[in-house]
Amino acid sequence: MLIFREEIAITSPIRFVRDDILKLTPYMPSKESCDIKLDANESPYDVPIEIKERIWKRLQDEHFNYYYDPSCDELRESLSRYTGVKPDQIFVGSGGDEIINDIIMAFAGPDRDVIIPAPTFSSYEIFATVAGSNVIITPIVREQKYGKEIWDLNTQQIKKHFTKDEPQLMFLCYPNNPTGDYFDEEKVIDLINNFNGIVAVDEAYFEFGGKTFTDRLSDYPHVIVIRTFSKIFSLAGLRVGYAIGHEDIIKQLYKVKLPYNVSLFSQIAAVEILKEMDWFKNTQSKFIKAREQLKKGLETINGLKVYPSSTNFFLCELEKCRDMVYEELLKRGILTRCLGDDALKNTLRFCIGTPEQNEILLSYLREIMS
Ligand code: PMP
Repeated sequence: MLIFREEIAITSPIRFVRDDILKLTPYMPSKESCDIKLDANESPYDVPIEIKERIWKRLQDEHFNYYYDPSCDELRESLSRYTGVKPDQIFVGSGGDEIINDIIMAFAGPDRDVIIPAPTFSSYEIFATVAGSNVIITPIVREQKYGKEIWDLNTQQIKKHFTKDEPQLMFLCYPNNPTGDYFDEEKVIDLINNFNGIVAVDEAYFEFGGKTFTDRLSDYPHVIVIRTFSKIFSLAGLRVGYAIGHEDIIKQLYKVKLPYNVSLFSQIAAVEILKEMDWFKNTQSKFIKAREQLKKGLETINGLKVYPSSTNFFLCELEKCRDMVYEELLKRGILTRCLGDDALKNTLRFCIGTPEQNEILLSYLREIMS
């Protein structure tokens, strides 16, 4: 709820809050109870019990009374093998969210510009506002490409905000949440080449699409890549994310991070999960197959347009009122997500579930849309 300063009683402790914080709405995801949870782009597959048992076993030998490794050395070694970059090019945080916040703290902060092509992941704008940065939102656009409608960057508009005077920070979500697919690669590279500042390329959904900037960091030392264990690795509840970049950029992030930001439990779980490459590849192919099947099914539903996806979710444009469709799905036990942005007012986002869950979703959507 928006509160205006004039409405605050002079005795209320809220009077001490900053003006810019007063205007914000807290990030509070839905807690609706449901049978099938498709609202938060999580994995429907929990970590298998054999892997959990290996994690418990290691935890039993650890000291809970001591602080755990603040620089996540073992995990950075494992990540180095997984990503092919040096451990010194990796920084670990408590989820991709914390990485986004740390990048803003180190490279933006008060009065610096943060450029955000949107609709996109909401944390960039929220954290940049909290940091007192000058947030510049530039709309992404719908375009026809290969006979399909897609969402892409409007590079001309974005470049109008580029300045050579002060360093800036820009976020590019690649592939983009919530629209679901990659922006045109040439446009991304054109922006990176012309930018006077850090470009944070958010690859939270990398494992579902496969494109990355981690192998081009020597060409683009001002790019920092953001990744997470919350999606394909099924560790959303444990909060582990990481950044990959030039060693000198990575060193700056250690200056702004919270001292013991990644718990003992989270570090060990992430190390153990990275040993499970067969499980990982199997999960990856299950998702890719399910995505194809779900897309085919969605394309047969009247009054529903599905945008291309290189992620574990779909954004759909609906001819019927989307709030009605959301409510009807919820009544039937399926939780999806309505995004607040004006450009998305007739859209619904849902993630890919198990094949069984996807079939149930399709049958209810057919029923509701008919
Ligand atoms: N980036 C993007 C694009 C996301 O969609 C998300 C989570 N949905 C994150 C970062 C943050 O993920 P986490 O904090 O769970 O690692």
